[in-house]
Amino acid sequence: MKIAFNEATTLKNSNLKLDLELCEKYGYDCIEIRLDKLKEYLLDHTAEDLQSFFASSRLKPYAFNALEYINFRDEAGLRQIKEDLIFLCETGRQIGCSTTIVVPSFDVGNYTRKQIQDETVRVLHELSDIARPYGMKLALEFVGYPNCSINTFGQAYETVLAANRDNVGIVLDCFHFHAMNSRLEDLKSADADKIFVFHIDDCEDLPPGALRDHHRLWPGDGAVNLDAILDALKEIGYGEMVSVELFRPAYWDEDAAKVIQTGKIKTEQVVRKHFPSKQPAG
Ligand code: ZN
Repeated sequence: MKIAFNEATTLKNSNLKLDLELCEKYGYDCIEIRLDKLKEYLLDHTAEDLQSFFASSRLKPYAFNALEYINFRDEAGLRQIKEDLIFLCETGRQIGCSTTIVVPSFDVGNYTRKQIQDETVRVLHELSDIARPYGMKLALEFVGYPNCSINTFGQAYETVLAANRDNVGIVLDCFHFHAMNSRLEDLKSADADKIFVFHIDDCEDLPPGALRDHHRLWPGDGAVNLDAILDALKEIGYGEMVSVELFRPAYWDEDAAKVIQTGKIKTEQVVRKHFPSKQPAG
């Protein structure tokens, strides 16, 4: 299983240039690039700079994070998402990054699960049509907050199956999985090929519905049953990658080098018990 770094973990104490250097230094295989950090980087660098960095590094790009609030948008909102997607597709083609994470909207009103699914599938089809010619895949990330329109693994997985596109899959994030009591049975019955991105993290022991991103902790330091999730992934034959993704303000106050190094160590301690090597399982 390849080890990746998600740039949210150093959201406030680093930038893309520094994240790249430090991830290469501390031996990560991949990086997930945030859209905001990418746009900031391109103010005084070019996509060619990024391309040449990856050409000469061991570190490779894995996914872009994220197109946010994709469903239930007005015309202007959806247009902006499509513009950002085209920008990521073009950049991705240049640097070799072929996955973009997409996130559902919050507080959408009184819609049934079926109505939410239909609306999300409609948008996913539009985005999938744009992404396909570039070889870009879309990974739907459910968020384990009560007010997110898609907030469990099961609901997200059903949505992805309903979309029924080769380039549409799911993000499994351990924090979001735990935060709204997603079911291990749903994960165990999933097709590993539909899991496009795997985010690892842990969190404080708050009840379901009360957890927020700032409660996230380093893998192994909190209340999430990561061993059960990793066992389930092994059982279904998933072994592609794992990306450490935290949003903890206390870690943003630390030195970026220390955070990036710690993320690698903490992730490997938890993951290597189940996946001893970098090779994909099954
Ligand atoms: Zn995530």
